[in-house]
Amino acid sequence: MAAPIALTRDDALVVVDLQNDFLPGGALAVGGGDAVVAPIAQLAQRFHAAGLPVYASRDWHPPDHCSFAPQGGPWPPHCRQHTDGAAAPAAFAAVVAAAVVAATVDKGACRDREAYSAFEGTDLAARLDAAGVRRVVVVGLATDFCVLATARDARRHGYGVVVLRDLVRAVDPAAGAAAAFEAMARAGAVLAATDALVWDRVDRPVAARDATRGSRPPPPPPPPPPRSAA
Ligand SMILES: [Zn+2]
Repeated sequence: MAAPIALTRDDALVVVDLQNDFLPGGALAVGGGDAVVAPIAQLAQRFHAAGLPVYASRDWHPPDHCSFAPQGGPWPPHCRQHTDGAAAPAAFAAVVAAAVVAATVDKGACRDREAYSAFEGTDLAARLDAAGVRRVVVVGLATDFCVLATARDARRHGYGVVVLRDLVRAVDPAAGAAAAFEAMARAGAVLAATDALVWDRVDRPVAARDATRGSRPPPPPPPPPPRSAA
């Protein structure tokens, strides 16, 4: 059994590239990618409810991006800016619309630069630092490319990293996923399952107080000190 991961106030959720083109039927489909959408949407809401920030990255390519086969790159054209393929699937789009996601960072937006990592060419690290985040919980697509690169970069930036194995899917679900998990662990990421997350340190204390002691209100704050007229 995996060790429990106690969440703290220094944690954030980073959702990597949950976009239509990476789901079955999309331009660069990741097998089983659709299976993680609803649980990631739920997890994002859970983080938000606990007061922990949620960030998302998206592949956001110009129409002639260097990673596309017609330009000599390895991938079919995908996640072109402002297309349905680049959009979030409905369940995740709904949590973005509900302001559960503090910020979405765009990557790969320059024609001549590829960016697998959510940190590459984005302000994600600055946003995490401004929010006081010390550790990131990483989920999304695809395990063997953008999740891997994001987890490694997070370690390079000095953040603790937890990767939820049940909420990522790989382009190559066999050797690719195995190599990616190994590389992430080697980089210092903790591989865990969503049900290993422990919430009692971050869930709002008022709920626990109400459950155990009834709804006695807290004492009023002390009055402000008198201001001397200068
Ligand atoms: Zn891409």
